[in-house]
Amino acid sequence: MHTIDMELVEMTLDVMKYTIDRISNITPELGAPKKEEELFEMVGETITPKGIGGETAFKLFKDVLVKATVPIDHPRHLAFVPAAPTRAAIMFDLVTSASSIHGAYWMEGAGGIFCENQAMKWLVSLTGLPKDSFGVFTSGGTAANLSALVAAREEWRSRDESHKAVKGLLLTSNGAHSSIQAMAKVMDADLEMIVCQGENLTGSELSSTIANLNKEDRERLFAVVATGGTTNAGIIDELDSIAAICGKEKLWFHVDCAYGGGALAAPSVRHLFNGIEKADSITIDPHKWLFSPYDCGAVIYKDMELAKNAHSQKGSYLEIFKDEGAHGFNPADYQIQLTRRLRGMPLWFSLAMHGTEKYRDSIERGIELAKIAAKKIEERDYLELVRPSSLSVVLYRRKGWTPDQYRDWTYKNHREGIALVTPTKWNTNGKEETISRFCFINPDTTEEDIDLILDTMK
Ligand SMILES: *Cc1c(COP(=O)(O)O)cnc(C)c1O
Repeated sequence: MHTIDMELVEMTLDVMKYTIDRISNITPELGAPKKEEELFEMVGETITPKGIGGETAFKLFKDVLVKATVPIDHPRHLAFVPAAPTRAAIMFDLVTSASSIHGAYWMEGAGGIFCENQAMKWLVSLTGLPKDSFGVFTSGGTAANLSALVAAREEWRSRDESHKAVKGLLLTSNGAHSSIQAMAKVMDADLEMIVCQGENLTGSELSSTIANLNKEDRERLFAVVATGGTTNAGIIDELDSIAAICGKEKLWFHVDCAYGGGALAAPSVRHLFNGIEKADSITIDPHKWLFSPYDCGAVIYKDMELAKNAHSQKGSYLEIFKDEGAHGFNPADYQIQLTRRLRGMPLWFSLAMHGTEKYRDSIERGIELAKIAAKKIEERDYLELVRPSSLSVVLYRRKGWTPDQYRDWTYKNHREGIALVTPTKWNTNGKEETISRFCFINPDTTEEDIDLILDTMK
C-alpha cells in the first residue's frame, strides 16, 4: 500500500491534473446535494476487501460525488460565510499533506511551526494587542472559541479555590454565533444572552446587565464574549466600552472575530474594531476572510501563559517534547487539540507569496462589493435595503415576498446553477422577518454576478 508502483505514479499525475484544472477554474459548476440513496445508486459500494482501484474511485469522485457538493469559492456563492482560498494556499495545502509534519510540538514540527508563527505574527499585529501576545491555529472558530473560553475559566478558577465548585457563567449578546452557545454546553458553563436594544452590544448594556445579576451569578461570571462582525449582519459590538467594563469588573474579554477578523487588515473599517487591542483573547478564522482552505481558525491570547495553564497536556509519553533539548513553541499547549495538522501553513505560503498588501486589497474589495450591491438594491424598485451594508454583508428584502417565496427562490437558483444565496431572519420593529442576505468574500465576484442574481428576484 505504501510502496511506489505504476498505479501510484499515474494516480499522482491524475490528481495533480485535477487539482490544476480545478483551481484554475474560476466558475466551477455549482453542485447540489442528492439523497444518500441516489448517490449510492450511482456509485455503489466503494469499500471492498480488494479495493475498487484508485482510477475507479477517483472517477466516481470526479463524475458523481464532487458534483453533489457546492464549491464554496464560486463567485455567486454568497450564502452563509463563503470562502475563496487563494490558489497558492490550496497548492500549499497539498504540500503540507505531502510533507507529513506533526504540528503539535516544536521537536517534530519546528520548520513548519516557524511558518505558522510567521503568519500568526502578522495576524496578531492586526489586533494591536500588546507585545508577547500570540496565538495558534485551530481547526476553526468553534475550536478557537472553546480554547479561549476554557483558558478564561481556568484563569478565573485559579484566582479562588471556591470557583472550582461552581458552574461558571458567560455573558454575550443575542448577535453571538451559535458556536458560543454550543461551546458553553461543552464546557458545562451557563450562558446568558443580552438582548441588545440597538444593533450591537454596548458597554452600558453590559454594565447594567452585570449590575442586575444576583450575587451568586455575579460571583460565577467569568467572561464576556463580544462579536467582531456578527455572522448574520457583519455588525461589530462596541468593543471599546465593553473592554472598559470587563477591565473594571475583572472579567475575561473575548472577541469572536471568526468572520470579521479579516477586516482588521482593511483600513476603511479598522476603526470599528477599536478596543480589540484590550481583549484577553480573540478568534479569527483564516478560512473565512483570509483566503485559506478549510479548515483553519486561529485563537490569539494576550497572555499565552494563561492559555498554557489551561491546555498543556501531561503524560509520560509527552515529557520529551517539553525537554530543554526540544525547546521551542509547542502549539499543543495553547488550544484543545494534541495531534494537529499545520493548518496555518497554506496561509503562510500565500501571504509570503503575495504579500500582505494583496490581502488588504482583496478584503477591501469584499467591503466594496457589499456597497456596490447595496446601491444596486436601492436602484431596483422591487427591492429594499434592510440596513446599510456592514463589513461585507448586505441584508435586503424583496418587497411583498413571503418566507416560502424566499425559500423557493433560493432552491430554484441553486438547482439551475445560477447562485447560492440563502434567506435569513431579521428583527424589524420587534417583528421577525425573513429577508435575503449576501456575504462577499471572493474578490472575483463581479458586478455582473450581482446584477444576475438581483434580476432573478423580479
Ligand atoms: C463562523 C463563525 C464561528 C464558527 O467558526 P467555525 O470555523 O465554523 O467553527 C464562530 N463565530 C463567528 C462569529 C463565526 O462567524
